[in-house]
Amino acid sequence: MAEFKRPSGRGMTEIRKMSAKVGVIPNADGSAMFSFGDTIAIAAVYGPRLLHPQHMQDPSTAILRVNYDLLSFSVYERKKPGPSRRSQEISKVTEWALLPVLDLKEFPNTVIDVQVYILQADAGTRTAGINAASLALAHAGIPMKNLVTSISVGKQDKNIVVDLDKDEEDYEEGEGATDFPIAKVANSDEYTLLQLDGKIEPSEVKKALTIADEACEKVYEVQKRALKEVVEQ
Ligand code: ADP
Repeated sequence: MAEFKRPSGRGMTEIRKMSAKVGVIPNADGSAMFSFGDTIAIAAVYGPRLLHPQHMQDPSTAILRVNYDLLSFSVYERKKPGPSRRSQEISKVTEWALLPVLDLKEFPNTVIDVQVYILQADAGTRTAGINAASLALAHAGIPMKNLVTSISVGKQDKNIVVDLDKDEEDYEEGEGATDFPIAKVANSDEYTLLQLDGKIEPSEVKKALTIADEACEKVYEVQKRALKEVVEQ
């Protein structure tokens, strides 16, 4: 049987070229860009600021509010602007992925708004968005126990691969493609996002997570470097 090759030509555990930059939006309280190949996400943090209307305030904590948007021009066929079920889902899972690292008790009655915009999409936008948002929150000086790192593992036919691009997500040969995006607290075993689009055998989950863990360490290195650059400036 011929050896399986990814359509992108990458190795099974090879991540697309990553890049990150902190402080890309001067008017925001914190901001960052994170990219996996042709997928580019920017995140901007505004707050903590007093939440209006007042009846929504929580006197024991700040509220985290994430808004994810795949911009119209980010994909080849212009996408209808505005919120969708997909964007609402990704906003919510991004919020849940970030909350476990944040200490929001210091800012009662306030809101922290995180805007995640996808400038260019080639799959993996939720994972790039989470990486950018985590950096932007750190840049805004919100107390965090660590960064959140995120990547997608998946399957193409029977092979476990890391960081699927759009062509790979659309792979239709054999058993097709599976997308398994995860997020975790850096340097820990604490997962803050586990989603699954497609099928994976229970026996393969452990292997997929081991590959994801190793990939997350590489994501973390890129994130740390970007934060260091801004501190040095
Ligand atoms: P993720 O971007 O996190 O992998 P999805 O699996 O929902 O999330 O989307 C996969 C990819 O499909 C996106 O990254 C994007 O490239 C493409 N895509 C999603 N929504 C649209 C859309 N409305 N129009 C065109 N392409 C889209």
